[in-house]
Amino acid sequence: MLALKDLDFRGKSVFLRVDFNVPLDEEGRIRDETRITAALPTIRHLLEQGARLIIASHLGRPNGQFNPRLSLKPVAFRLAELLKVPVKLAPDVIGDEVNRLKCKLTEGQVLLLENIRFYAEETANDDDFARQLAQGIDLYVNDAFGACHRSHASVVAITRHVRRAAAGILVQKEVEFLSRAVHTPEKPYVAILGGAKVSDKIPVIRSLLNKANDILVGGAMAYTFFAALGKNVGRSKVEEDLQDTAILVLDEAQEKGVDILLPLDHLVALSVEAPKPSLTVEDFPIPKDMMALDIGPKTISRYRQIIAEAKTIFWNGPMGVFENEAFAEGTIQIARAVAESGALSIVGGGDSVAAVDKAGLSGRITHISTGGGASLEYIANESLPGIEALSEK
Ligand code: AMP
Repeated sequence: MLALKDLDFRGKSVFLRVDFNVPLDEEGRIRDETRITAALPTIRHLLEQGARLIIASHLGRPNGQFNPRLSLKPVAFRLAELLKVPVKLAPDVIGDEVNRLKCKLTEGQVLLLENIRFYAEETANDDDFARQLAQGIDLYVNDAFGACHRSHASVVAITRHVRRAAAGILVQKEVEFLSRAVHTPEKPYVAILGGAKVSDKIPVIRSLLNKANDILVGGAMAYTFFAALGKNVGRSKVEEDLQDTAILVLDEAQEKGVDILLPLDHLVALSVEAPKPSLTVEDFPIPKDMMALDIGPKTISRYRQIIAEAKTIFWNGPMGVFENEAFAEGTIQIARAVAESGALSIVGGGDSVAAVDKAGLSGRITHISTGGGASLEYIANESLPGIEALSEK
């Protein structure tokens, strides 16, 4: 994979794809600027090297239509403050006016294109749209790790219309850590998977069956497995249509000698908003009007033991409804165990990253991935469309 250091950017017009998909509040103010600050090292590097920099990002889901509420205007403003250089916001993504602004750029100047998803051609990976994006561009850099699992025009098709396409600093770092987990994981390799849906995680589980020693399951997805095993899970969240797949995965794990561990006990309540758990259930059935919302103390203790012995850990997805304090304990305790393990630890996914942050443990995780979906897909497929599209050294 081509890296920044392999290219000479002086005087070149460089198209940089970033992930500035920041959360905005009702008034359109940025609630969390992590995604902007994450791209700063690459942006600074390119500016110091004398690039004429054109930056592109998506924001929210405008569904291929112009939407002033999803303009990158607040991002342009904040980016200029952080960089301490003016950032011009283009009125559009492609077209004559944008091409004129691109041509006018001199070394070290920045032009931010409008929200790239104002065009449906972006998500369609449209080649003609990609060609227009690449108009007047010499070199392409991808630093949008969170979008690398998408075959979109500014991620994939555009690379066919530029001389060279390189990874930015963020993308390089992500790939470096994730590829260690994929290709050379030190054993024991423990994967921790939680969150709402099994469907999102079947490909990653399948891939982990060839690599991991243990897969610790938490969150709602555990109850699809339990339901498939014939347990009475009350009103816990279950994906009915995935029960056959769940059984196949469990059988496959047994054949391959991988332990898929399911919770030993469950904190249950009448609803996700309950102020506290109604009870801790150790054995099924879960009362028919209740749902399991967090792993219980026995599970925490068992999972902690396994995590403590791990040399490589990949974690994606919370162990319970951690947004509610009453059901956050499982996720927080798992975050502690991962931080204390001394293993090479990779945490991906907005919720698990938020839990690590909330517990004040970010500094003790080897690598916090900026892309939840992208990191899952990398672990599952050992690469991503946006990475494959980059030039080779
Ligand atoms: P995901 O996006 O798949 O990682 O899922 C994250 C969401 O799963 C969070 O919003 C959690 O509240 C939710 N979640 C985790 N455990 C449970 C559970 N036992 N029941 C319902 N929702 C859950």
